[in-house]
Amino acid sequence: MPKFQLHTKIIIGLILGAVFGAIFAINPNKLELTFSGGSESVENWQDFSFLRKDSVLKTFDRNDQLTIIKYYKNTKDKKDLRLKVRYSDGTERFFENTTAVEKIRTIGVMLKPVGDIFVRLLMMIAVPLVLASLIVGAASLTDLKHIAKIGGKTLGFYALTAVMAITIGLILANVIEPGHKMDPVSKERLMDAYQDDAKSKIEQNVSLNIIDFLVNIVPKNPFKAIADGDFLQIVFFAILTGVFLVQIPNDKAKPVITFFEGLSETMIVLVEKIMIVAPFAVFTLIAATVAEFGFNILQTLLWYSLTVVIGLTILTFVEYPLLLKAFTKVKVTDFFRAQKQVLAVAFSTSSSAATLPVTMDVCEKRLGVPTKIASFVLPLGTTVNMDGTALYQAVAAMFIAQVYGFDLNLAQQLTIVLTAALAAVGTAPVPGVGLIMLIIVLKSVGVPEEGIALIIGVDRILDMCRTVPNVIADSLACVVIANSEGELGEITPDAEYPGTM
Ligand code: ASP
Repeated sequence: MPKFQLHTKIIIGLILGAVFGAIFAINPNKLELTFSGGSESVENWQDFSFLRKDSVLKTFDRNDQLTIIKYYKNTKDKKDLRLKVRYSDGTERFFENTTAVEKIRTIGVMLKPVGDIFVRLLMMIAVPLVLASLIVGAASLTDLKHIAKIGGKTLGFYALTAVMAITIGLILANVIEPGHKMDPVSKERLMDAYQDDAKSKIEQNVSLNIIDFLVNIVPKNPFKAIADGDFLQIVFFAILTGVFLVQIPNDKAKPVITFFEGLSETMIVLVEKIMIVAPFAVFTLIAATVAEFGFNILQTLLWYSLTVVIGLTILTFVEYPLLLKAFTKVKVTDFFRAQKQVLAVAFSTSSSAATLPVTMDVCEKRLGVPTKIASFVLPLGTTVNMDGTALYQAVAAMFIAQVYGFDLNLAQQLTIVLTAALAAVGTAPVPGVGLIMLIIVLKSVGVPEEGIALIIGVDRILDMCRTVPNVIADSLACVVIANSEGELGEITPDAEYPGTM
């Protein structure tokens, strides 16, 4: 049997997962009903009505699987609820005392727990790794001036790439105008299907008060920050601890640094072992996403999704290579070749934090970045640098504004640049948070927050896509900064990745 490198296996897992998910996709025209007479699956309905006694509460048509499930879930008093299904051949059937209305699960989604364990294992590593590596990273930068220099360069580079990303998003949204291409019927349908999800996200009450934002970066209790996985607070605490560790006598600092070095190295070794199951895990994650995904909704939101994906593609394959060329002599192909695992893990997990251990390993072992720079720049980048998310937030805000008939002027679009940059910093590096932070951007330009209901249905897919540039920008910053410090080692893009079976 040929011996494949790990990244090849991951890519095979990804492709096979997509095919498997497509074959065993959940049927969007089938529902499983549980009622007084047992449970039964229904399909080919022409219309589907909810009744109480003989009065009709609401009727849905054949494309409304999701809305039907949501309507049932949100009906408070389910007692005496009757369903009337009228099939396409004209026959009718009543289902009395319904107790469940669900999609029919397929094997496409049943294997997902394997993928979930993989993501949880990577997340399990992320918090201790950020803490330990930043403490060691900050402590190894010897003095405050050096830390300020590297920190300043890192944040400056991140700010530059974020503003460029948002600008790309705004230009595309102005040129393509995806919101003007959506018809009012689709708008109604999406609002109906997702308004409850939108409400629960809005209730999280995120706000853009810069003072509060800054105050909240300081943890009252670092152990709580660690327990809650609050990355910004962990970063703050870790950098300060690292900085001041070098100011106490060496005999006391040394064991602490050695401890965190040991912790960080253990996490890296652990991730190399976890990556052995990556091909299988990626297979199950992608299969479940494809099987569960409503492709109808992708059609409805085609222009919006295309605008985001085109933007992310330009960001990743045009902006980043240009920056790489401008700041270093590293070959673009080598840079991307080295990161195949990183791309696949970011895409399938939708989490920069889960990908961090892999990014770190690859930066050190293949991109020639010294540990002290990687362990400082990468955790910081994972937490604050989210170019893909910032671009997506800009496009999403413009899209929602266009659908609602708001014409955002130049000043408002500049407000989007600022708020999307900050909202992306505040976005936790885990799946789906970019959508919640989008509410801040919408508030800043007076676009109704409920509008996020329009885009929730495609968020998972776009989250996978935006997480890729989120992590690529981190390794780019690492290479650029190591190079500017004259510390970039040899690039070995094809170095065997530990964990290859
Ligand atoms: N999933 C993204 C990340 O982890 C964050 C987001 O945009 O939701 O980078």
